Amino acid sequence: DANETSLTPVTARSGTAGTPGEPLVVLSDVNKHFGELHVLKDINLTVSRGEVVVVIGPSGSGKSTLCRAINRLEPIDSGTITIDGSHLPEEGKELARLRADVGMVFQSFNLFAHKSILENVTLGPIKAKGVRSADAKKRAMELLDRVGVANQAGKHPAQLSGGQQQRVAIARALAMQPKVMLFDEPTSALDPEMITEVLDVMTALAKEGMTMVVVTHEMGFARKAADRVVFMDAGQIVEESTPEEFFTNPKSHRAQDFLSKLL
Ligand code: ADP
Ligand code: MG
Repeated sequence: DANETSLTPVTARSGTAGTPGEPLVVLSDVNKHFGELHVLKDINLTVSRGEVVVVIGPSGSGKSTLCRAINRLEPIDSGTITIDGSHLPEEGKELARLRADVGMVFQSFNLFAHKSILENVTLGPIKAKGVRSADAKKRAMELLDRVGVANQAGKHPAQLSGGQQQRVAIARALAMQPKVMLFDEPTSALDPEMITEVLDVMTALAKEGMTMVVVTHEMGFARKAADRVVFMDAGQIVEESTPEEFFTNPKSHRAQDFLSKLL
């Protein structure tokens, strides 16, 4: 299992190296509609290098769309999104290159079912970044070791538990050496006993200084790991504060209402 003390730091070797605190992900006046439905309303959000932002809010409030927009999986109608100063283009080679800066982990693990665990982690670096196979393998084994599944490297995804698959998904995203990691409800599809092993890996990443945007209903994680909590409702950022402030003294009625329903 993931043992925090033996984790090899990844951030020093990833694109996270840089000046902590400078803006890394910047959304300015972002709007997005699905037909008549206004799902992102004038979103302004800056995530600084090394910061862990936890996004919470009711179902349907636009959290997944926000993540997908940051990664250009979802086009936006207006506004701008920059990653480390670069605008993500809509398509093309440049998009693939810049998208590699944004690691994404979804609720459903999305591993390649017909590839081994090792191949799942080496494929991106080899195909998208031109990393030599031997180097990609070495790096993948380090990452699998750090998320506690190195001994599963030769297996296929279906042979692993959900918690193990999600840890592989994290290793796969890290293999691209992203500047920021997006997590969209990474533990929502897991059995309760597997949630902790995934959150432990995420907590270790956060402690190392990885820049992270995490959509989650795990309030324990939010309290412990977040530098900032962003509360969304109906496509808007309603409230932003430290976890301490947010959980003890939410300012908006909508956040108060949301928190009261969790108890
Ligand atoms: P959350 O992740 O907070 O639950 P989503 O971002 O998934 O919210 O969805 C926000 C709103 O947009 C919801 O009302 C949802 O039904 C709608 N929506 C999401 N994706 C699509 C889509 N591809 N087409 C139409 N409506 C969508
Ligand atoms: Mg969602």
